[in-house]
Amino acid sequence: MKSLKTACVHAGSIVDENTQGVNSPIYTSTSFAYLDLEEAVYPRYYNIPNAEALGVKIAALEHAEKGIVFSSGMAAITSALLAFLKKGDHAIFQTGLYGGTFHFVSSELKRFGIEYDIAEDNDIETFRKLIKKNTRLLFIETPSNPLLKITDIKASAELARDNGLISIIDNTFASPVNQTPHRSGIDIVLHSATKYLGGHSDICAGAIACNNENFLRIRSMARSLGGSLNAQDVYLLERSIKTLAIRVEQQNINAGILAERLSAHDGIDQVYYPGLPAHSGHAIAKKQMSGFGGMLSFELRHDDPVDFQRRLRLIRPSVSLGGVDTIICSPALTSHRHLSEADKKKEGIRDNLLRLSAGIEDMDELWSDLDQAFR
Ligand code: PLP
Repeated sequence: MKSLKTACVHAGSIVDENTQGVNSPIYTSTSFAYLDLEEAVYPRYYNIPNAEALGVKIAALEHAEKGIVFSSGMAAITSALLAFLKKGDHAIFQTGLYGGTFHFVSSELKRFGIEYDIAEDNDIETFRKLIKKNTRLLFIETPSNPLLKITDIKASAELARDNGLISIIDNTFASPVNQTPHRSGIDIVLHSATKYLGGHSDICAGAIACNNENFLRIRSMARSLGGSLNAQDVYLLERSIKTLAIRVEQQNINAGILAERLSAHDGIDQVYYPGLPAHSGHAIAKKQMSGFGGMLSFELRHDDPVDFQRRLRLIRPSVSLGGVDTIICSPALTSHRHLSEADKKKEGIRDNLLRLSAGIEDMDELWSDLDQAFR
C-alpha cells in the first residue's frame, strides 16, 4: 500500500472467512490449540491473531518490517530499553523527555547497573560528546513535551549508526502521519498509542515499529514484562487507526491556525509551535515533518492560567493529548508538577504556560472559545 490513508484503513486487517465481513473479527480466547504449532499462541506472548494483525498495520504506517502493540506507551518504552540495555552499558537520552520516561530512567536504570546521561541540549554535537566506550543507545523524542522542541532525526540516526548505537525515538507527538523516522534510519520507533493512534481518549496502549531482529529481541523482553494488550482494545485501536490520517490532517490545520492567531494576540507572551517560522526548531521541523502536528503551547501575558482554563466552555482542561476533542492543560500542574522550581526553570516550564492538544472541531468555534475566555 503506497498511501498512508489506504494503509490506515486496510493494512493488517483480518478477513473474516465465515462472513467476509469488512471488519476484523475479535479473537477473545486466552487458550488456543497447540498441537502441530511451533510456538504456542497466548496473549502475553504478543501473538494472538488481533495483536499480530495490528502489528502489521503499525509496521505499514512506520515503513518498518515489524510492529508490536502494548498495554501502554510506558510498557513499550520500558520493554524496548530493557531489551537493549544491560549492566555496565551506558545510554544517552535527550532533554525534555516525557515525564514517565524520565522517571523510569532516573529512578530505575542505575538499579540495573546501567549508566546514562541526559543531554543538556538536543543538538548532535552535544550527543556526540556524551558517547563513551560502553554507550549502547541513543533515545530521542521530537517534537518534545510541552515546548515542542525539535531534534534532528536523520542526524541522530546517523550518529547512532556510525557509533554502533541502537537509536530509539518516541514518535507520539508527531504520529506517523507527520513523520516516519524509521525511513530516516532510526532503529526503533515507539508510541504512546493512547494519544494520536487511539485518537478518542478511550484506549490506553503502546506500539513499536522496527526491523525483524530488533522486534524479536523486544518481544522476548516484553513477554517477560507482560505488558500485552487485550484483544478487545487491540480491535478498538485497529478501528481507530482507520481514521488516523484524516484526524491528524485536521488537527494539524487547527493547531497551525490557532498558533498563528495566538501569536498575534496581545494576551499572549509566547507561542511554541514548530510550524511557526519564529520557533527555534522550525528549520529542522520543515525538513523532517510533513505536517507540524496538533500540539502547541503558549504563555499567558496577564491572565491566571487556572482561571483562564475554567472560563473555557468548549475546550476542556484535561490531561493527555491526541484525541478528537480539543483539550488544554497546565504543564506546571500536571506533567511537570514534581519538578523542583529550579528544574522547572531550567526546562523552561513557567506557571503561565498552557499546552493545547487540538482536536478536529470547527476552527472558528475553537477560536471563539479562546477569545471569550480572554475577554
Ligand atoms: N510518550 C509520550 C510523549 C507521552 O506523552 C506519554 C504519555 O503521556 C507516554 C509516552 C506514555 O504513554 P502511556 O501513558 O500510554 O503509558
